[in-house]
Amino acid sequence: MKILIVEDEPSLREIMLRAVGREGYVVETAATFAEADARVAGYSYDCILLDIMLPDGNGLRLLERIRELRKRENVIIISARNSIEDKVSGLELGADDYLAKPFHTAELLARIRSVLRRGRSGGELTLSLGNVSLAPEGRHVEVAGRELPLLKKEFDILLYFMQRPNHLVDKAVLAEAVWGDHADDADNFHFVYAQMKNLRRKLAEAGATVGIRSVYGFGYKLTPPQSE
Ligand code: CA
Repeated sequence: MKILIVEDEPSLREIMLRAVGREGYVVETAATFAEADARVAGYSYDCILLDIMLPDGNGLRLLERIRELRKRENVIIISARNSIEDKVSGLELGADDYLAKPFHTAELLARIRSVLRRGRSGGELTLSLGNVSLAPEGRHVEVAGRELPLLKKEFDILLYFMQRPNHLVDKAVLAEAVWGDHADDADNFHFVYAQMKNLRRKLAEAGATVGIRSVYGFGYKLTPPQSE
């Protein structure tokens, strides 16, 4: 799960970064509207924490950009002005939730979990395909009813694919989604290969009826059982 924090106030940004990072999410930050706009245009996030008052623009405009780009990021507006107008316009522009400053980080984390839960996985707590089921919240995977122990990044990779069955996923896109900014370095593709190899072996050994196939020269694809 990848989170973008848009906040111009350095100390608050740092507090949020630490709190969200500790939960195991991949976190990126933007301090200006321009930076946030570039990130949203170039990358995908599971959730965006959006400050309204930015030095070079209004955060609400980013919601319009997300819509223009036909993206489906979850957005939580975080506004210093405890103004009903920001809240109403934000929710009208498609924001998923609103949190007024000052807030407790525990509250922020609860809102993130809630938005992610009703977001991409369609409100369901478990993703299932073939005999594989995955619970994003508890980070728990089962194959044919038996627990499959996975390392953190192996789990993140499987989650990414379970959310996109049959989609051809470019290895650079995958690296970026699972490793965040640090994956821009081509050397890190070695991590993708290594983790992917382990994950595929574990799935095969557990008798999973779904597998991740490599598509030569491009990336990977999660293939469900033929009968489905
Ligand atoms: Ca601000």
